[in-house]
Amino acid sequence: MEISTGKYNFVDYFEIMKEKSDYIDSIEGIQRSGHGKCIHINKIAPGCRGCFNRVGKGYGMTIKLGSKCNLSCPYCFDGQDKSKEVTLLTLKRRLADIYRKSLDAVEFSGFAFSNGEPLLYIDRMAKFGDLFKDIERRKGITLWNKLYTNGTVFTDEIFDKLWHWNFKELRFHPSASNFSDTVYRNMEKANERGFVVAVEEAAYPPNRDKLLNNLKTFQEVGVKHVQLCETKVFEFNIDMIANDFPEGRFYWTNTPFLYHEGLTYDVMKNVIDNNYSFSILDCSSEVWRMNHGIHHQIVMEGIEDVFADYGPASRGIGGSWEKC
Ligand code: SF4
Repeated sequence: MEISTGKYNFVDYFEIMKEKSDYIDSIEGIQRSGHGKCIHINKIAPGCRGCFNRVGKGYGMTIKLGSKCNLSCPYCFDGQDKSKEVTLLTLKRRLADIYRKSLDAVEFSGFAFSNGEPLLYIDRMAKFGDLFKDIERRKGITLWNKLYTNGTVFTDEIFDKLWHWNFKELRFHPSASNFSDTVYRNMEKANERGFVVAVEEAAYPPNRDKLLNNLKTFQEVGVKHVQLCETKVFEFNIDMIANDFPEGRFYWTNTPFLYHEGLTYDVMKNVIDNNYSFSILDCSSEVWRMNHGIHHQIVMEGIEDVFADYGPASRGIGGSWEKC
């Protein structure tokens, strides 16, 4: 990756860390867990476990089915060139890997579909879904599978299929559609059908007012968890971000980020003040840093207390997540 820090508004990492720390301390009710890596309110979704507790929790994987998306977010982590497709050969290899592991005494946790809009690839997903069912039957387990979606393309048939393949957690991205009614209706439906409904949003300062104004609706449609991700910067999205938000401050950990300017903590404060029931995780650059360090060898005692218990299948996930 080539990003010239002189061309953009890069500031010192410690300046941002100090601002964050002071701001967190000024808001009563924000919790610091996991040696300060897990900044949250309420017990967070089991789908986040893999980022904090990778040791000894079973095998799982985030799978990219394809690049297409029907929307276009300026900060999209997946790049703006949606024509670069995942080949069928890659997917077949991934299926074979998972199947091979399932023949051995490997413990399984769950799988996730992410990147692009996975629901545009429902036929590709079916091959994995059938394999997941097969693994559950042979191993006598229930997987905690989750799906990241912009929430725009659901049908009753898609809900039925996801339920059949034992998807537990659906993570919606409502700002991608400008918080459309269609997405909220789909979140409500997902909740009624028994899925754990979560929101995963970029903590993107230009979305600030809309995000704050939509928290009440999150509560009304049954959201259980909100994940606010600090915006990761790549050579393919930095110009779009810098044009969209010229006053934005970038900083560098082991990869560059756009500081959220306190948005995550303002959202937490709003949720605390209004007594909403959903949890929030600050999925910050520190979580990413931990995830890409030696964390694979570290057992974080006490971190289990941070996760919500949504039934037996939600207790075992995490583990050695790989990205397809
Ligand atoms: S909805 Fe997701 S995949 Fe689609 S453009 Fe936005 S961030 Fe990228």
